Order: sequence, then C-alpha cells, then structure tokens
Amino acid sequence: MLTSARVATPPGAPGDTLWEALAGLVTSMLECARGAVPGGPVTGDAGDAGDDGDAGDGGVAGVAACGVGCGGPMTPDAQTVSPLNIPGWRDFPLRARLAELTGLPTFVDNDAKALALAEGWCGAAIGCAEYLAMVVSTGVGGGIVLDGKLLDGRLGNAGHIGHLVVEPEGRRCACGGRGCLEAEASGTAIAAITGRPAAEAPAEVVERAGTLVGRAIASVAALLDLELAVVSGSVALGYGEPFFDAARRELKERARISFAAAARIVPGSLDAAGPLVGAGAVGLRGIHRRADLRGVCPETGAAAP
Ligand SMILES: [Zn+2]
Repeated sequence: MLTSARVATPPGAPGDTLWEALAGLVTSMLECARGAVPGGPVTGDAGDAGDDGDAGDGGVAGVAACGVGCGGPMTPDAQTVSPLNIPGWRDFPLRARLAELTGLPTFVDNDAKALALAEGWCGAAIGCAEYLAMVVSTGVGGGIVLDGKLLDGRLGNAGHIGHLVVEPEGRRCACGGRGCLEAEASGTAIAAITGRPAAEAPAEVVERAGTLVGRAIASVAALLDLELAVVSGSVALGYGEPFFDAARRELKERARISFAAAARIVPGSLDAAGPLVGAGAVGLRGIHRRADLRGVCPETGAAAP
C-alpha cells in the first residue's frame, strides 16, 4: 500500500453528509496520486473509463480503477448500497457517485467479500481455492471462495455468515431476524450484552463469542467443503487466542463429517490493511471481468487469445 487516509463519519448523519465526508477524502487521495505520478492528471484518456456511461473523462495517470468495499446488503453490481450499520444510506447510489467524482472505472462490492479477495491475494489464504474469510467487528460479515472463485450469489450478497442462526431463541438482529451470529457475537452485540465496550468483555463472553463463530463455521464447512476459515476483525483479533481456541473447540465438536472436520480456523494476516487491500482487489477484479466480457487482455488491451 502506497498511502492511506481516513476520515471520521458522524454517526447517524444523513446520507449526503456522509457522502460529503467520503468525497472529500477521495478527492484528496486523487490529488495525492496526481502528485505521485510524473505528468500529472490525464484527462479524456483514462483507459476504459467512460465508455459504458458510468465514468466520464478526467481519470488520473497511474490510477487504474476505483475499488470499494462497503457494508451490505446491496443491489446487483452494487448499483445501490444499504449497509445495515449506516442507516443514512438506504438505496444509496455509491458506485455512480464515485464514478462521477473520480472519472475512473469504479467497482463496489461487499466489504467482507473484498477482504476474502485480499486474504487470497496476499494474506492467510494464499494458494487456497476453498475458503471462507470472515470479519468479526462492529458487525459480522463473510466472503466465500469456492473452486478458486469468489461467490457472488444472485444479487451479489453471498457470504453473509453474520445472519446464520446460532441461537434459535437468541437476540433480535438488525436484519429483523433472531439469534443471528451478528446479534450474538458482534462487537455491537457484546457491548449490548455486557453493558461495556466489547474490548473489555470478561473471559466467558470472549469464549462464547468464539464458540458461536466456530458453530457457524462448522455449518458452512459442511455445506461447502471448505479447507480454511480466515477470521479477522477487531473483536476476533483483539480477543486473540482464547477466542480462536473456543472457535476451534466448537468446530471440532460440531463438524463430525470427515471433510468438514478437517477445516482449519486461522486469524487473518493483513491487519488494518486488509479492508483497503480488499478494496484494491475489488477494483482489479472489476477490470479483469470487464476485459473478459470484451475478450481483451486487461494489461495491454489487445484481443485475448
Ligand atoms: Zn440477522
């Protein structure tokens, strides 16, 4: 990663206030890219930007795409996003807004799917063709790679492991359901259960969160014949070994069919860079898929063999 920046978004702010904060950040990053590339900005010649109506002129030299990881759910090709944890964005046209702002080919995907791409690209799942990557932080999300390919699902929402039911009579979930993993083991849920920040949870709460995560992984491993579950996020990584030990114990306890019992649970290895590397991977995947559709090589623009 060459550079990064962040901006605080006011909690509960209306959609346009959040967008203005994001737009300011993106604009400053584009300025940074202009400064880093000899020759400065290129206008009217931004690769394949603009030729399918979603990005105009004004691309930046040395910048191939704008890749985005965002909370779900979203509509196909992320035309609109409605992240559960960002109430100000409901059916928000994030991709079109960013394409217009940057002038770049812009691709948006679920943030946990993005992280799954990142872990396979340069993280804990390098060389693995069947794995689940999940995030246990404010919420709980996941992305699945099967037969070497990231699963999208009908509307692009495949992998929402946070809404697997792990306690049938459990707590109400933000999705409207009950007893979802996210309603029991996310940082938000743990804070609500204990009455203090998730980072200060007592040992039995840490163990329970790990156990429930292991329970969900056992079901997914049986369903999809997975080799690996990569778990990251501030809650999981913050709790560390006691959390992972509990998850592995529960996987061993619940996954008895031979192939699922062989699945492994490991911590993510990208730390804070994971989501941003994932967003980059979403951008690369988007460019490659677009090139595939046209039958051209993504690197040279020449007709593919
Ligand atoms: Zn739910």
